[in-house]
Amino acid sequence: MASLGEFDFIGQFLKSQAAQGQPFFDSPLALGIGDDAALIPPLPAGEQFVVATDMLVEGRHYRADVDPASLGHKVLAVNLSDLAAMGARPVAFTLAAALRSIDQRWLRLFLTGLFDLARSTQCPLIGGDTVGVLSDAPQSFSVTVLGAVPQGKALLRSGARPGDELWVSGSLGDAAYAVSRWVADPKLDWPSPRLALGQRLQGLASAAIDISDGLSAEVRHLLEESGSHRSVAISATIDWQTLPLGPSLRLALQSQSISDDRARVFAATGGDEYELLFAAPVSARDKVGEIGASLGLPLTRIGSLAATPASPCGIFWRDDQGQPIPAELASECGQGGFDHFKS
Ligand code: ADP
Ligand code: MG
Repeated sequence: MASLGEFDFIGQFLKSQAAQGQPFFDSPLALGIGDDAALIPPLPAGEQFVVATDMLVEGRHYRADVDPASLGHKVLAVNLSDLAAMGARPVAFTLAAALRSIDQRWLRLFLTGLFDLARSTQCPLIGGDTVGVLSDAPQSFSVTVLGAVPQGKALLRSGARPGDELWVSGSLGDAAYAVSRWVADPKLDWPSPRLALGQRLQGLASAAIDISDGLSAEVRHLLEESGSHRSVAISATIDWQTLPLGPSLRLALQSQSISDDRARVFAATGGDEYELLFAAPVSARDKVGEIGASLGLPLTRIGSLAATPASPCGIFWRDDQGQPIPAELASECGQGGFDHFKS
């Protein structure tokens, strides 16, 4: 890309908008776009930094004809979701963009989605890089987000204990259901990072993870990390009928365009949800309920964890009678065992 194009892009689009409505820049120690690097004011005493990076690649994570505003929203949202899963608050982010050309109309829309979310979460864009790629190469966007969390209070994947209960925020399955039908869906295109929830779960949840690859996959990550951390094999029992189906799936059920089981397979395995999955002790039940009510966000208890005498172990899906769901369904949802102690 010509350096003039890059220069205009940074000057016109980015620098002017990035600071708007961002209290970050109230500090005389803060420096955003325009120098060789950005400067971040010290965190308040007792906090530590959290950092996460996620990228979206054309053709792999999104289609070339995506609504650019939703893509701008999403590339920041998926990063904020990682902060949420750590219980962190956002501080600032950088953006690396690999572009085939400077398409001003497209970029304006992209930045509208990006900056709207940046402002509403008080997470300013403070720098980045812009490069040109060959005309037949995919475009990509990579965000690195900085956050802060009280020292030692971050929510890890590895903290769950046998006996804890498993919870999910919001609803599941709509994003994957939309992908399967090639239609737009707010869940897929405009995910809401659960930042307030993550911060409220500090000191209450024993472990947390955000649902990017699907509930079943994330439960496994949590079991593996928590199991190897405690050198104990942990299994999850999940109540199939408690999985909170998204509004699109519920509509489809009502109109009988999908069966209950198919809808639940979407909820159990569908990615791109950006809800939080977390573990908490039984004693935290009431408190978790209060948090959900005060945030206006449904929090659903979907199952519990138990120590399993022998590795490998896994996820056990149960129907409302406490019986295993049919084997074909369970294997679709990833019932197969895995080894906690693999290298
Ligand atoms: P350098 O050669 O020092 O990396 P650049 O020309 O790449 O400088 O960038 C100039 C300024 O613009 C820097 O402050 C950089 O952080 C910012 N910048 C470049 N691209 C982006 C982008 N995609 N998003 C945000 N800031 C950017
Ligand atoms: Mg650069």
